[in-house]
Formats: sequence, structure tokens, C-alpha cells
Amino acid sequence: MSEFWSDVVHTLSPYVPGEQPRGGSFVKLNTNENPFGPSPATLEAIRAAVTDRLRLYPDPESLALRTAIAERFGLEAAEVFVGNGSDEVLAHTFHALLKHGEPLLFPDITYSFYPTYCRLYEIPHRLTPLDANLRLRVEDYVAPRGAIIIANPNAPTGVALPLEDVRRLVTAHADRMVVVDEAYVDFGAQSAASLVRDHANLLVVRTFSKSHSLAGMRVGFALGQRHLIEALVRVKDSFNSYPLNMLSQAAALAAWLDKDWTDQCLAKIVANRAELTQALAGLGFDVLPSQANFVFAALPGRAGADLMRLLREEGVLVRHFSAPRIADRLRITIGTADECAALVAALRRRL
Ligand code: PMP
Repeated sequence: MSEFWSDVVHTLSPYVPGEQPRGGSFVKLNTNENPFGPSPATLEAIRAAVTDRLRLYPDPESLALRTAIAERFGLEAAEVFVGNGSDEVLAHTFHALLKHGEPLLFPDITYSFYPTYCRLYEIPHRLTPLDANLRLRVEDYVAPRGAIIIANPNAPTGVALPLEDVRRLVTAHADRMVVVDEAYVDFGAQSAASLVRDHANLLVVRTFSKSHSLAGMRVGFALGQRHLIEALVRVKDSFNSYPLNMLSQAAALAAWLDKDWTDQCLAKIVANRAELTQALAGLGFDVLPSQANFVFAALPGRAGADLMRLLREEGVLVRHFSAPRIADRLRITIGTADECAALVAALRRRL
């Protein structure tokens, strides 16, 4: 019955999210969720928002949340955009800021939603290969004169680009958009947020899903100068004026203000990452240096898909991508110390 479809639907190749198992009990290290829950203050703020006021529409501008985010970065609320997960923020970004005559540039190995948005919004794009060690070289982005989007740290590699390299990218291409997707930046990379004030072409995209333990609430945001945020607002208000419901706004605000909790959880995840990296190396894995809440690891001589399957049989879920150059790797989310130990024990049993 696809004759009823609009033309563009035939060309789509939708993003496939990691498995959210409906039954069974798994050690779930496949979707980069935070193993530590939202803070008690965040849960209390959500409960407090469950009132008769839910019959009303939420604040369409999420002003309290945007103001709190802006303050931390020394920006104005007009320089902050929020959306239903950073996926929605990214979608509006592709639509509002990345569709130009010259192809959009991004790495061959990066967040697989980028090519999906390109198809949805019919944006010409060109892949710029990472080097042999899966690192991004700023020099590779000099020509042609298209806009650029990168994830920093990159996904699924976890490899981070130093701030100086991002500054070079943004400065060298002052006449085109540069978007930095910082979904994982809080786990140890350097944010480009400090560059926003001086660079009219830079948009930094962030999420509450990872470092703030709120994947279930769907809140993401972007930082950029007013003219960029205005473009995003124009698209948002042509799509859905109320992307964040009342509970999400309350939760994100409380989580943002409870910085101690966030920092404590981040420290534990960073420590667990170091331990897991060492344990995997001890088992013979090649583990890329990660600044994210996951590691990207390969066991020489073994196919990633096979390793994923045998781990699943052991009750441990990890992510595998079958794209060229990375099919031998597994992306393993950093869990609690017990979850990481369960993964290592399962590998020891089966290797
Ligand atoms: N960017 C990257 C690089 C990601 O890996 C993810 C998570 N899948 C997102 C953005 C989107 O996260 P969310 O929509 O939960 O904010």
C-alpha cells in the first residue's frame, strides 16, 4: 500500500535505536544510559509537577529551564534552545541551519542519525573519513565549502577532539555553520560552549539523557548566538510549539541545579571506565581511548556480531554496528561496577 506514501518516505532509511528489552533480565550496556538514576531532588520535582495544572499547556518557551542553562554558561536565555531530546534539537538544526547548496560534511564513522536526517530533509552530504586510528583530522575539512557537523566526543568511537582543534575548525570556516554535538562531553572531553560568544557560526548541542540520567524524559538543548537560536525557534514553532511537557521541564531544571549529584555520578562512571578498559585490555581487546560513557572495543580475530550474540546469551546487552571499518567492534556502555564486572565475567566464561 506504499502508493499512499509521500515521495520522500520511499527514500528514508530510519535510524535504528538500541534494543529496549521488553522481558527478561539483562545487564543493559547497549544504549549509553546512565546507570545511576536521577537525583532524589529531580524525582521530587517530577512528583511535585503531577498536579491539576497538567490540564494546561506547558510553557512553550521553557523559559525557567533555558534561563538556568544560560546562567551556567554566561549566556542569555535567547542563546539557548531546548527540545524533546537532543535528537529533536539535531533534527531542527539540520532543517534550519545545515541545508545549503554545498554538501554538509561529517565523518564516515559518527552518530548514524546524521545521514538519516539528511535523507529526511533532502540535504546533500559528503562523508569525510576518519583516519586509520578512527581520529578526526581538522585538515580534512577545508574543502569544499559545506557546513560541518561533528560529535565530540565522537560516537560510537568515544574519541574526543581537543578544544583547540574545535576552535581551529570554527575559526577556519567562519563563513559556514559548524555544529558540535556534545551528547557525551561531560564524561571527560572539553566543551566548545566557551566559544559560542565569539563565533557566529557555532552551535553546540547537548543532552540531559546521559550525564543527567534523564533519557526517559527526553530533554536536549543547544547553545548558540541569537540568530542561530532564532532559526531553530522558527522551525520549532512550525512543527510543535510545546516540545517539552511540564514534567520534563521540571525534571530537567531540578537535574541541572543538582550539580553535586551529577558530578558524583560522573566521577563513578569515569572510574568504572578506567577499570573496564583495563579489564578488556587484559582479555586481549583493543580499546579506543574514550572520553564518553562507553568504550569501543575489538577482539582481534573475532567478529563483533558474534561477540554481541554470545554476550546476549550470557544476559549482557551491548551494541554492534555493521558499518564498514567498525564491524569488528562492540560499543559497551559504562555501567555500575557490578554491571561492568558481569560483562567481564561473561567474556571470561565464553572466550
Ligand atoms: N547525539 C549523539 C552522538 C548520541 O549518541 C545520541 C544518543 N543516541 C544523541 C545525540 C541523542 O540523544 P537524546 O535524543 O537522548 O538527547
